[in-house]
Amino acid sequence: RELVVSFGEMLIDFVPTVAGVSLAEAPAFVKAPGGAPANVAIAVSRLGGEAAFVGKLGDDEFGRMLAAILRDNGVDDGGVVFDAGARTALAFVTLRADGEREFMFYRNPSADMLLTADELNVELIKRAAVFHYGSISLIAEPCRSAHLRAMEIAKEAGALLSYDPNLREALWPSRDEARTQILSIWDQADIVKVSEVELEFLTGIDSVEDDVVMKLWRPNMKLLLVTLGDQGCKYYTRDFRGAVPSYKVQQVDTTGAGDAFVGALLLKIVQDPSSLQDQKKLEEAIKFSNACGAITATKKGAIPSLPTEAEVLQLIEKA
Ligand code: ATP
Repeated sequence: RELVVSFGEMLIDFVPTVAGVSLAEAPAFVKAPGGAPANVAIAVSRLGGEAAFVGKLGDDEFGRMLAAILRDNGVDDGGVVFDAGARTALAFVTLRADGEREFMFYRNPSADMLLTADELNVELIKRAAVFHYGSISLIAEPCRSAHLRAMEIAKEAGALLSYDPNLREALWPSRDEARTQILSIWDQADIVKVSEVELEFLTGIDSVEDDVVMKLWRPNMKLLLVTLGDQGCKYYTRDFRGAVPSYKVQQVDTTGAGDAFVGALLLKIVQDPSSLQDQKKLEEAIKFSNACGAITATKKGAIPSLPTEAEVLQLIEKA
């Protein structure tokens, strides 16, 4: 089995038509479909893998548009349910001139937060080779319970659990609550990916030295990754560790680069699970994932920039 099932939110980002403005200054916005778990599923599918998405959308024009985007990209939407009473989540996002990302979320509550455990497509989740999730689905009930139940179902059925916390501080009641809740499911994951920012947030230490990263290591983990933007990433397993540089590209917009990286890596792992025990194979898989992230950073938006396998191989060969 090679199915990657990704669980969580899918939403529409509204991004300014011009760069480097605050939300208030933006003259107009364009729709940019996203949501990290949905991006991961589409990344897997774009690369030629088998992927499904589990989550809730509003029974509105935007929700139906997002489900169509999943299907058009070859992602199984059999785990998508629609809420008649709540809207599809929206987020206004801008990269200000000072380099800070500014978010404004419309989730009061949005449909994704209202998924219940009873609405889970259990048969689909049981088919997963890897079950992937973030932390936004942990913020509010009933989605939180649905998330925890889905993890249990996947684990019992033999899936590897993959966790990319994807910290969005503004969505949590406080920084402490975010840290506590994000770490509350830490011990259960087989594969964990954090960014430099998340590493600092979770450990309280601004360093990517091995002893700092190891604070996030757990005995039952199979793989821990720290992504470092254009510097590539560091990886840790029980038996070996290392760093893999990325590829040189013209960076335009890194939105979705982390999700592209995760999608590529999960695809390589379901295709050959022995990559988790074999350093050479793992480094090859990470190189491929770095290239996938790098390409995504060369184009605006998340979903439109996710590459095909041919594009990734082309970048690797060129280097
Ligand atoms: P996100 O920003 O999507 O939440 P993230 O911070 O983990 O996630 P990055 O570290 O920006 O994402 O990117 C993930 C991977 O993509 C990196 O580890 C790297 O391999 C590749 N990548 C991203 N940006 C670049 C870049 N400018 N040049 C080369 N590779 C890049």
